[in-house]
Amino acid sequence: MKPAVLVAGANRGIGLAIADRFHGLGYEVFATYRSGHPDRPFRWFELDVREKDGIDALFNEIEKSEATFEALICNAGVTKDQLMLRMSEEDFDLVLDSNLKGAFLLAQRASKTLLKTRKGSITFVGSVVGMSGSAGQVNYSASKAGLIGMARSLARELGSRSIRINVISPGFIETDMTAELSEERKEEILKSIPLARFATVDEVADLAGFLASDSARYITGAVIPIDGGLGMGH
Ligand code: NAP
Repeated sequence: MKPAVLVAGANRGIGLAIADRFHGLGYEVFATYRSGHPDRPFRWFELDVREKDGIDALFNEIEKSEATFEALICNAGVTKDQLMLRMSEEDFDLVLDSNLKGAFLLAQRASKTLLKTRKGSITFVGSVVGMSGSAGQVNYSASKAGLIGMARSLARELGSRSIRINVISPGFIETDMTAELSEERKEEILKSIPLARFATVDEVADLAGFLASDSARYITGAVIPIDGGLGMGH
């Protein structure tokens, strides 16, 4: 039977590249969007990851499909950058609810399905700043650090059922999120990246595809940087 993957936040950027990759690998791709989606042979669902009812409805569809659900990619994420003294409580909550609680709701519901087959993986898309911190990103870095604790706790809860949970930790990737940076800031960042360039979305998709594959069958609770050496392994 065909394997199925759910990619949350698949309409652009890293999520779209990951969805394309899984489709190329022969998966049935369930893909979520909020603001419209490109033309791809995926099963598209409009979903805000903060909404539990929407997540339940989506998993009901996945369970009704012919394919066997094997992989969840929690990629949806937002930034609302501001120095802490000026950061509003609303912007703190928005980022934590989208990036951390949304991932929790997805992982919780996905686990119920994965436990039936006792096989599969959950991959959270974190960020290098979850480990390093970043001025102006108290909310974002806290949400990404939270994913690490959550992944490692889940890895302990679900490991005996052969369900693996890992975190991809990207540095700077060429997407809409980094397009917002000024040229000056980009030059400054490049000086701190040993490989002296940003990554492409396809390079992140390579890692996501690997982590869901059988080649990664003994990898769980790991935080895997894909950052050109920016975090030196962290
Ligand atoms: P992006 O181009 O801004 O795309 C973000 C994706 O998340 C979009 O699909 C967006 O959907 C979705 N999304 C945001 N909030 C959502 C919500 N509440 N419910 C459902 N979907 C939601 O970002 P990206 O650069 O590809 O980043 C993807 C992931 O990688 C994020 O988790 C980000 O934190 C992480 N990351 C990116 C970089 C980088 O350099 N780009 C570095 C480290 C980590 P809509 O389009 O409908 O809003």
